[in-house]
Amino acid sequence: MTNSVRSSGLGTQPVGDVAEVAEGVYQLKVPVPIPLVFVSTYLIEGDDGWTILDTGFDYPEGRAAWEAGARALGLDLREDVSRIFVSHFHPDHLGAARWLQGLSGAPVYMLEKEIDHARDVWSGDDVNFTLLVEHLARHGMPQSLAEEAAAGTRANLKLPEKMVAFRVDEEVSLGGSAARVVHAPGHADYQYMLHDAARGILFAADHVLLKITPNIGRWPDVAANPLARYIESLNGLRSLDADLVLPGHGPIFHDLAGRIDELLLHHEERLDLMHGEILDGPKTPFEVSRKVFRDDLTLYEHCFALAETLAHLDHLVLEGRAELSENGVVYYRAS
Ligand SMILES: [Zn+2]
Repeated sequence: MTNSVRSSGLGTQPVGDVAEVAEGVYQLKVPVPIPLVFVSTYLIEGDDGWTILDTGFDYPEGRAAWEAGARALGLDLREDVSRIFVSHFHPDHLGAARWLQGLSGAPVYMLEKEIDHARDVWSGDDVNFTLLVEHLARHGMPQSLAEEAAAGTRANLKLPEKMVAFRVDEEVSLGGSAARVVHAPGHADYQYMLHDAARGILFAADHVLLKITPNIGRWPDVAANPLARYIESLNGLRSLDADLVLPGHGPIFHDLAGRIDELLLHHEERLDLMHGEILDGPKTPFEVSRKVFRDDLTLYEHCFALAETLAHLDHLVLEGRAELSENGVVYYRAS
């Protein structure tokens, strides 16, 4: 894929630091203990106090970044935070919400279905672990590897006590302006973005990223056909009024429509590539993922590669370009 959308030059501060990226909008790069290196969180100053968007993992380096970032802005995490917005349930976004709520007393806002989903996923029981092992093995990952991989994705996340439901398309006040809660499925079923049309700002969460493509994967807890929902959502966003995109990872950029076109092209290319892999006979999703992803992946990354491959193979079935058969293990072949 050739990428031509450029980064903005805003938010180029080092990981751990905070920078103003629009009037009254600050980006804090919170370090995360995964290959992504950091998550971009946002602090928005308003008449009714500060709003935080996304939180990072809850671990010492993350907490230290929050403390230092708040200090740099002259903001007291214990006094001045009125709301905590969390775009989706992944631990790099939701992880530190409980800790921040403990300090500030501020409620945490997610889409209603995401609150239920987060309670399921982070319940701490063994059901999710077992489901993930079965899921990985059923799609061709060797059993012992599946067990090791599932153990590696285990995270202990304690949910905030006070979670408040956002409705899709709800308008919320934000930093002297207003933003609409935009449903952004694909990377997570109930992810949302915030769109401030008056200021042309899109807080894009992990829906539209630059340099990297959001992981669109089918996991045991994900509804069927996540890639179809992602593509549909992207197509619907092309005409959105936004000339500043503030994403959850990677550089800030301006050309939303241009980046959407690149992402759509990327998935078309990946679909063709995977279609090519199953032309000469049935393969398991794991076999396909081993062919189309780098082979120096960590086990953790293998899980994401498999989930992503599965999302694409499902999409080929939806398009009538592939069919699947199951015999304890699932195989896909071109049709
Ligand atoms: Zn993320």
